[in-house]
Amino acid sequence: MVKIGVLALQGAVREHVKSVEACGAEAVVIKQKEELKDVDGLILPGGESTTMRRLIDKYDFMDSLKEFAQQGKPMFGTCAGLILLAKKIVGYETPHIGVMDITVERNSFGRQRESFEADIAINGVADDFPAVFIRAPHIVEAGENVEILAKHNDRVVAAREGQFLGCSFHPELTDDSRLTEYFVQMVKEAKEKQFA
Ligand code: GLN
Repeated sequence: MVKIGVLALQGAVREHVKSVEACGAEAVVIKQKEELKDVDGLILPGGESTTMRRLIDKYDFMDSLKEFAQQGKPMFGTCAGLILLAKKIVGYETPHIGVMDITVERNSFGRQRESFEADIAINGVADDFPAVFIRAPHIVEAGENVEILAKHNDRVVAAREGQFLGCSFHPELTDDSRLTEYFVQMVKEAKEKQFA
């Protein structure tokens, strides 16, 4: 069985744990950087990216997160987690973890629509995924190796680049675990490759 960590500095941690378990994988709540060694993949939950960044620095997580990415282990960023993964953030000079070849813009669905739900098609995952957006970012630019998985109102809201998966919305806030299942599959494949 693969073990999937959920970074537990802030945000919807318990919901991600439930969703990973619903997919038949083991979920590990990650509160210390040393715990990253025990997992095959990592979920970076939603919350507030600036706050999460502060906590990443406070608990000295940054180097370990970058190392995790360098090892080729899959990472899945949801909402604020997507912002943490991006190499570029509109209006900011430096990224956070900065490993996925995308540019994101924060809070890009307008104030009047701070949160909403929409059924969206996610390539290879679902035709009708219930996506919950909460002060969501979107992907404004993506490198050539990035596969666009979903759009909403012409804005890119889910993408994959090899080991990295990211989405603007909160898949953990519904009972639909198909996107998490897709990530679990990525983790299984990466682990099999490692031992092949
Ligand atoms: N607006 C938040 C940010 O910029 C993300 C919101 C979320 O994760 N639901 O970090």
